[in-house]
Amino acid sequence: MALINVSELDVRFGAGEDIVHAVRGVSFSVEQGETFGLVGESGSGKSTVLRAVSGLNPDWAGTIEIDGTRLGAARDRPFYKRVQMVFQDPYGSLHPRHTVDRILSEPCQIHGMSGIEDRVKEVLVAVGLGPTFRFRFPHQLSGGQRQRVAIARSLILEPEILLLDEPTSALDVSVQAEILNLLQRLKRDRGLTFVLVSHDLSVIAHMCDRLAVMNAGRIVEELTVAQLRASEPREAYTRQLLRASLGYDRAAAAKMESFD
Ligand code: ADP
Ligand code: MG
Repeated sequence: MALINVSELDVRFGAGEDIVHAVRGVSFSVEQGETFGLVGESGSGKSTVLRAVSGLNPDWAGTIEIDGTRLGAARDRPFYKRVQMVFQDPYGSLHPRHTVDRILSEPCQIHGMSGIEDRVKEVLVAVGLGPTFRFRFPHQLSGGQRQRVAIARSLILEPEILLLDEPTSALDVSVQAEILNLLQRLKRDRGLTFVLVSHDLSVIAHMCDRLAVMNAGRIVEELTVAQLRASEPREAYTRQLLRASLGYDRAAAAKMESFD
């Protein structure tokens, strides 16, 4: 049985003439230990899918199951011990007036966990930040360090699933690779399952086992990364996205000629 099962997910915003039908009949499954990618251009509905799964948006229709248990609109506390989300903007997602220590301790306090100080220290080391970062504020950190703190916060309750929404899109290219590699290592060490959203197919290809391509609220194609690498996207839309993703990378662009 799949760990995550999303079936016929539908999300609409607004009402009447202003209605936005952001997600239309989206279905996918993710196996335990897999990294599943959701790729598509801006506005295609990727974040809306993740927000529905994570419980941030309670207004959706369809079925979302974790480990065979069907989720309702509201999420209970145990859900957040299993499923955590990481956002694109590490500055916006960290409280500006809280120290790293407080940012990491608070979820533990809410969940009544013990040994909080040791947990905070352990998770800071795990994300490549030493204990000296504990009493810093977000504005005293670089973008990459802030995203490491956001990842540490997502891990502190020891979840099984991370929902990653463009986790490196706000970062410099050199820092992007560091964060992606960190995520790979954490996934391996902790046996995590990832759903990774990105508009960038090269990020998805680097990280994922399988991916779904979204366009205008629908999944237009699902394929393995092996199929992607073997230049086998079925849909013209996926091929176009591939070209756009690789447009600024000359070496990769050269390899792309077979798509023209
Ligand atoms: P993506 O993450 O792929 O860029 P989103 O899921 O953020 O796309 O958005 C999908 C569509 O839903 C867009 O048209 C967006 O404007 C719309 N949308 C997202 N959130 C809201 C909201 N809270 N209210 C109204 N429209 C929204
Ligand atoms: Mg988004």
